[in-house]
Amino acid sequence: MQLPREVIVGEGVIEQVTKVSYRLGFTDSALIITGSRTFDVAGKVVKDYLEDGGISAETFIVESATMKDVEMVEEKIKLLKPQIVFGVGGGTKIDVAKLSSARLGIPFISIPTTASHDGISSPLSSVKGLKEPFSVKAQAPIAIIADTEIIRRAPRRLIASGCGDVIAKFTAVRDWRLSHIDNNEYYGEYAASLALMSAKLVMQNAKLIGSGSEEGLRVLLEALISCGVAMSIAGSSRPCSGSEHLFGHALDMMKPNCALHGESVGIGTIMMAYLHGAKWKHIRAVLETLRVPTTAQELGLTGEEVVKALFTASSIRPERYTILNKLNLSLEDCKRVAETTGVI
Ligand SMILES: [Zn+2]
Repeated sequence: MQLPREVIVGEGVIEQVTKVSYRLGFTDSALIITGSRTFDVAGKVVKDYLEDGGISAETFIVESATMKDVEMVEEKIKLLKPQIVFGVGGGTKIDVAKLSSARLGIPFISIPTTASHDGISSPLSSVKGLKEPFSVKAQAPIAIIADTEIIRRAPRRLIASGCGDVIAKFTAVRDWRLSHIDNNEYYGEYAASLALMSAKLVMQNAKLIGSGSEEGLRVLLEALISCGVAMSIAGSSRPCSGSEHLFGHALDMMKPNCALHGESVGIGTIMMAYLHGAKWKHIRAVLETLRVPTTAQELGLTGEEVVKALFTASSIRPERYTILNKLNLSLEDCKRVAETTGVI
């Protein structure tokens, strides 16, 4: 089990970056992986704080999360030999920093500028150019510094996406339990409870989070971070990624970038909750409160595209047994599910 040693969430906490580095023993050198926009938002601040504290800090700009980006960062790490790698930005920057540092055995600190998915704290990275369309093992961040003042400035759509990714744990945990019952797959009660509790807290606080308040954002960030920890405890993405994620991956492969991660898995959660016989109407209502899309139309998708993604979802990751394997839906069934749940 690899867990973060320091998690700091709150307004203005980015100024603690040097103190955190010192506490963890990184007093000499750092490499900051960031994007050109996120450099202005937070990367430069991190660099300035570290340098003021006497830590030499180089920055490296990445704009996408492909295997090529990971390899370029690895070259930079080999050249500079930093004690610690920082990922400062949204999903892509953190994914690249996490995977490249893990592959070279250097610790990594996560400084998210958005709250759009649980990759900010998970031990997995989602990178394009691998044979898997889903996340691969990397390493858990040794520290997470989530400054709500910075994250609040990100577009509301990203926060809504983060909510969708947390609520997805309702069906992810159900799928995991199902596989335990049907296939005797390892099931970790503690990891499952932690993921489920995060989803419940976001649902209970939907109005607060939807209002855009700092307090609401803090609830969401703590939920996302707890989901990352749940994956660290489980040693896989199982507690956080089930059939609803497979649907999201299928959609993403068919029509790349048509939706944010939490938007496609949010819609997936409604349909998978229906298939599990869970309270799908309640989940849909909460997603609406959180302004997470609940229909194909909102994402600019056709009914056929949704049905096809639902139909192909179970073949994306054959070893991950979910409700889709159990029910083995026909194309006609998929259409009925999408229609009944109001997705199409
Ligand atoms: Zn996710």
